[in-house]
Amino acid sequence: MTITREWRGDSGPTIFSSTEPLFFLLLPRLSDCVALPGVLGHVKCDKRLMHALFRSTMIEADVCIVGAGIMGSAAAYWLSKNPSLKTILIDQYSLLNSYCSSNDANRVFRYSYGANVFYTKMAVESRRLWVSLEKETGESLLAPSGLLMLMGEDENSNNFNKSSYRTLTQSKLGAEWLEARDMKRRFPQFASTEAVFDPNAGTLLASKCLSLLSSRARESGVQILDNTHVTSIASDSSVIIQTKNASDVKCGAAVIAAGPWSNPLRRENMVEITSTRQQVVYFNPETRISNYRSPKFPVFFADQYYGLPAAGIEGVKVSHKGVWTPVDPSEAERTVDPATVEECRKVCQRFVPELADKPVLSTKVCLYDMTKDSDFVIGRDPKHASIVYGYGFSGHGFKFAILIGKLLAELAVGEQNSFDIARFSPSRIPVSPVLPVA
Ligand SMILES: Cc1cc2nc3c(=O)[nH]c(=O)nc-3n(C[C@H](O)[C@H](O)[C@H](O)COP(=O)(O)OP(=O)(O)OC[C@H]3O[C@@H](n4cnc5c(N)ncnc54)[C@H](O)[C@@H]3O)c2cc1C
Repeated sequence: MTITREWRGDSGPTIFSSTEPLFFLLLPRLSDCVALPGVLGHVKCDKRLMHALFRSTMIEADVCIVGAGIMGSAAAYWLSKNPSLKTILIDQYSLLNSYCSSNDANRVFRYSYGANVFYTKMAVESRRLWVSLEKETGESLLAPSGLLMLMGEDENSNNFNKSSYRTLTQSKLGAEWLEARDMKRRFPQFASTEAVFDPNAGTLLASKCLSLLSSRARESGVQILDNTHVTSIASDSSVIIQTKNASDVKCGAAVIAAGPWSNPLRRENMVEITSTRQQVVYFNPETRISNYRSPKFPVFFADQYYGLPAAGIEGVKVSHKGVWTPVDPSEAERTVDPATVEECRKVCQRFVPELADKPVLSTKVCLYDMTKDSDFVIGRDPKHASIVYGYGFSGHGFKFAILIGKLLAELAVGEQNSFDIARFSPSRIPVSPVLPVA
């Protein structure tokens, strides 16, 4: 039986709705339920009573996706292209919730991955798919601007910039080495005198991508179960997704894309993650905002920090690439520390001086789901092939989400993968971190 719910807070009456006859047959059992006059199939009811009703039901589907962040939503989008599949997308919070790692104004898109040709190739394929989604929907999602990798004091970052230059050049992907004169002419907003430029980089309008993919999936028939916390996943001939506060789901295959909350849903022998707390600051340029929009103002890397142009928001984002502060994802402090704002100002003083004394437009705390090697986890549960996992995106997954969603959808329906995912095996033994985030 399909029941659509609309929560009204954590306690008290909630509106539930369904158009299925069984729903009405069960209602007389619930004495406190009140049918809403004039709205067929809607009932106002205490949540605990409705849980009792849900418990007596089991929803069936071909594929059930747990997690409506960008990875789960992208998988739902690809699965929704097959109208004969019944797909369900579940999230513990509301759709487009602000706790997930995907719902922020913008994210870096880049080809530059140091000497790592694999990720560069993956970025090239992802760009092709983002552009194709833009064409299909008529929406702009990727604001091109290039990535300016400024030479600074941090040796690791400088080496990353140099090896990115070499890889992009060898792959004929148009990297440029900029000297002081070029910098002054092309990017006068920056104080650095030497930089590497990746011309194919830009800004993904993250919240817009997330909303577009989940709404496309829903419009094409994917059923959304929000505010539904998944507690466990069991597998036999089919997969049973158990929930704390709603019906369980019986499905042919499950895709688990639970971001920083992934640990309790994976099996012991699979790659573990650490959820870490990250803080971002948006500075308001106040005047001459056009100087800070893409393509005039590029995405930038500056030592251990990165920044994005005013795209998807009227402010310039500045953030550390990755601070190691492990947290419980459900209890992480969601307010930015004043000291972090000051650190970001110092980075501006050094690299983008005009921004250094500008007011803060907004701030955000967001969580990384870090694996030990900062490689992703994409693949089947080693013991239960109908359970597919996508997690551990280690602070750099968004740019690939459109491709990762496709790969997860392919795994769920048993199709050959269109991109090699061997390195992302859920049962590998990760060694040490190798990749920069963002
Ligand atoms: C500050 C920050 C900056 C970043 N910058 C970049 C960047 O510039 N470029 C880039 O490529 N990447 C970047 N990333 C990484 C990228 O944003 C993430 O890799 C990506 O958003 C992860 O998406 P996800 O769908 O896996 O996880 P999430 O977006 O966190 O979604 C997981 C969803 O699963 C739900 N869920 C979890 N457990 C359960 C459960 N038990 N039951 C039901 N639902 C559940 C959660 O509520 C959540 O909505 C950044 C990340 C952060 C935090």
